[in-house]
Amino acid sequence: MKMFILGESADAESAATFDVANPATGDTVDSVPRGGREDARRAIDAAEDAFKVWSEKPSIERSRVLLKIAEHVRANVEDLARTLTQEQGKPLGESRSEVNSFANTCEYYAGLIGRERGAQTPFSTGEGFFIVTKRPIGVVGAILPWNFPVSLMGWKLGPGLAAGNTFVVKPASTTPLTDIKVANILGKAGLPPGAVNIVTGPGGVVGEELLDNPKVAKIAFTGETATGKRIMEGSAKSIKRLTLELGGSDPMIVCDDADLELAVEGAAWGRFRNCGQSCTSVKRLFLFETIADGFVKNLVEKVKTIKVGNGLDMSTHMGPVHTNEQREKVESMVEDAEERGAKDLVKGGRPDQKELANGNFYTPTILGDVDYEAQIAREECFGPALPIFIVKDLEEAIERANDTPYGLGSSVWTKNVERAYHAAERMQAGTTWVNSPPIARAEVPFGGFKQSGFGRELGIEGLDHYYETKSIQVLEYGKGKKWAFPIN
Ligand code: NDP
Repeated sequence: MKMFILGESADAESAATFDVANPATGDTVDSVPRGGREDARRAIDAAEDAFKVWSEKPSIERSRVLLKIAEHVRANVEDLARTLTQEQGKPLGESRSEVNSFANTCEYYAGLIGRERGAQTPFSTGEGFFIVTKRPIGVVGAILPWNFPVSLMGWKLGPGLAAGNTFVVKPASTTPLTDIKVANILGKAGLPPGAVNIVTGPGGVVGEELLDNPKVAKIAFTGETATGKRIMEGSAKSIKRLTLELGGSDPMIVCDDADLELAVEGAAWGRFRNCGQSCTSVKRLFLFETIADGFVKNLVEKVKTIKVGNGLDMSTHMGPVHTNEQREKVESMVEDAEERGAKDLVKGGRPDQKELANGNFYTPTILGDVDYEAQIAREECFGPALPIFIVKDLEEAIERANDTPYGLGSSVWTKNVERAYHAAERMQAGTTWVNSPPIARAEVPFGGFKQSGFGRELGIEGLDHYYETKSIQVLEYGKGKKWAFPIN
């Protein structure tokens, strides 16, 4: 597969390529160009030229193009989902849902654009009025992770294109294929050439060019907190606008009055969907002591039924960990917890089956009696291992839940609305779900507190992050005082 620059497939200037591996089999799915700084510059120049065209289109036209994009993407869902499963590893059903969510985000912003309302406000001194207008920012560098390559591209392109910006997308090097296929579809939907470009290549090269290049006005990044810090640093040179969606270590609190059957399902869904590799996966489970034994018993039974395998096999519930390096990180966190006295409630690990031997598989793991100082309690565990902590009441649960540098998602499970609201107000996280696993919705702003990032994606707020705010002050004729300088 090739990159996508100025509406066309493109090789790297160096003609170098690299392979993309299937995490379930180790086989090569395809190869892509190893883009360099010169390729990134070509794409940035294309996006800059396209900005002049796209930003001038009336909002109704941008809205129509976004609807067409959604239609084309939905029409190609099977092909896109298959490629996504092959390069990322997730089961086909999850891939379909991810591709559809890209379309959904486009539809949401197609509906929103052109419907915003503003106001003309008089000056307090009565001499005139001001209006606040919104202008697109310019060329956006979208730097993507590998866990949700398609939906997270949608979170950036949906609001960004709706607002009139243009893009250079840098997909994660292990998941560029579905994004390239989507980019080819965008062209067919009437997007001007250059409005969305995809440059494949190392983050340290292509990504760094996006940071260095003064023509890039904004960076929209999702990925690791450490990389986010580098993005902030690199963006400072030309004061780029920034949205950072970084890691999380999301707590789930189950109170003694929760619907326990629902909460068991929520914990399994929240931790093991996408093989535990979501920024808002349930990463720490807090159970009230009075319900803990029954809850753990039912969760263990449920988790033991999770079938691990190749995502293309329709009977698979959970695919492989995305890379072997990622699997080793999970293994080392589990071992660290065990060394500190954690009990294996479900003992996971590398499966024995021969047909899974070449993939990065790791079966679901549940740990009890976990030390609060264990790595799995303190850092983001991006894989299928769940630590459980027992708490005596809601206050202890909230205090423990907040004891982390992260603040992305969180959830509380209770039938008592006062308790739910009390917890939601006190949990230091961009989102608190009540009686729900972590599901992002196009209409709800999403983002982090603390070191989980800043800025918001999705919702009306997400659109705002793709605009510059401009104030126009108008003095009514004859009402202004006479200026005289010097000022006395
Ligand atoms: P990274 O943050 O390293 O990568 C995310 C994106 O940033 C990739 O496209 C990467 O490119 C790019 N990148 C890397 N270095 C730079 C740079 N110097 N300048 C610009 N762009 C750069 O995440 P990883 O994929 O390596 O995952 C590592 C960890 O991050 C995981 O273990 C997990 O804990 C966390 N993570 C969190 C996610 C979330 O949604 N919260 C999502 C993904 C990961 P390239 O792929 O070429 O290196």
